[in-house]
Amino acid sequence: MFDSHLIFDSNIGQRKRSETIEGNPACPFCAPDTLENIIDAEDSIILVENKYAVLRGTYQTVLIETDKCDSELSLYDKDHLHSVFQFGFQHWMKMAKGGQFASVLFFKNHGPFSGGTIRHPHMQIVGLENYDYSSRLCDQYFEGITIDQNFGVTFTLSTKPMVGFFEFNVIMEGSKNIETFANYVQTGVHFVLNHYHSNCTSYNIFFYEWKEKIIAKIMPRFVTSPLYVGYGIPQTSTKIEELASKVKDTYF
Ligand SMILES: [Zn+2]
Repeated sequence: MFDSHLIFDSNIGQRKRSETIEGNPACPFCAPDTLENIIDAEDSIILVENKYAVLRGTYQTVLIETDKCDSELSLYDKDHLHSVFQFGFQHWMKMAKGGQFASVLFFKNHGPFSGGTIRHPHMQIVGLENYDYSSRLCDQYFEGITIDQNFGVTFTLSTKPMVGFFEFNVIMEGSKNIETFANYVQTGVHFVLNHYHSNCTSYNIFFYEWKEKIIAKIMPRFVTSPLYVGYGIPQTSTKIEELASKVKDTYF
């Protein structure tokens, strides 16, 4: 029997606030020499244990994507983009297959509405001892209009989004074509930040293992719809087709 909720340790959360945001506003990821408990590193890409493990019953790690504090995933050259994804997937899969966790989260927050607190480009890999995220997934969240397809990887816009209104999916059979997969994720993020909505500054990327597939969901973030928060009702939009065509015309 798995847990129904994750428990946030408010004392650690408070210590994080007072030691970073309030106490020392300098970016902790810009000083790799001061990082404790580095797990692995490859050039400027570093996997480190999260100093402030606020979630009980979890193993929280941070993947620092680059040494450039003001960079962002949509700006990486292809070599660096591919290195970040190869490195991230390698560690995500290692934790997922290790048998230690009920499931392993792999995700990225960017911008004020994403839930992230540190600007420096990073992702998180979090092992959950007693929670299986896949129990809340269903096929329809990943169904959508195909924008492009290549080497067994499909780039879609959700027709039945998990939250709404617009969610991009990148769906890969197995884990063979990480480079194509990374390219589509980068395109989705670039579109969200540059062509989607004049003031969209925030997004999340969530990675899932689902029925022999690897899937990334790219969600532009604004204030979450009250219908979703209060009633759990996801929404779609009358502009789905138009938006899918716009992405096609812009990039493919
Ligand atoms: Zn930094």
